[in-house]
Amino acid sequence: MDEDCDYLFKAVLIGDSAVGKSNLLYRFAKDEFFLDSKPTIGVEFAYRSIKVGDKIIKAQIWDTAGQERFRAITSSYYRGALGALLVYDITRKSTFESLKKWLKELREFGGPEMVVVLVGNKSDLLHSREVNLEDGRSLATLEQVSFMETSAKENLNVEEAFLHMIHRIYETTS
Ligand code: GDP
Ligand code: MG
Repeated sequence: MDEDCDYLFKAVLIGDSAVGKSNLLYRFAKDEFFLDSKPTIGVEFAYRSIKVGDKIIKAQIWDTAGQERFRAITSSYYRGALGALLVYDITRKSTFESLKKWLKELREFGGPEMVVVLVGNKSDLLHSREVNLEDGRSLATLEQVSFMETSAKENLNVEEAFLHMIHRIYETTS
């Protein structure tokens, strides 16, 4: 572990192709952007350090390199992850309908304590909305996960979604 932090957490981004996972990560990590590549397993990740109380938490956030398109995310992607942002696109209903499959995979490969935040991205595209705010909220309640709508484009709620996940991981592990 690095000497400049008290905790190092791994979290993953999941959801259908083109929902905005990579753009959400670019937004969140842009202040301190080290995008490492692991071409052999088809993932990339970025780090960001945040302060919670007097502790410094370094979050290592993994992003897919597009392999979700082939439904080929492997268990190694999830291994050791304490949190997940599960992302859909509010303008494409099919990405919302895929969430059941993603939740099943999360529960299969992720640990039982994994913190999941459901994210409805592209909230700037209100005129093309296909998934109501209420539908996202209901699913989150049913699945007992947190929920937020975001816009990576307009930088709305992006910081909040990641920080919420990181704070909850900290609460569940300390
Ligand atoms: P990924 O496949 O889930 O990683 O999705 P990307 O981050 O590559 O984004 C897919 C497409 O959606 C790109 O054309 C992005 O510019 C666009 N996009 C991502 N987030 C938003 C958003 O919040 N609003 C809008 N309008 N477009 C977005
Ligand atoms: Mg991507």
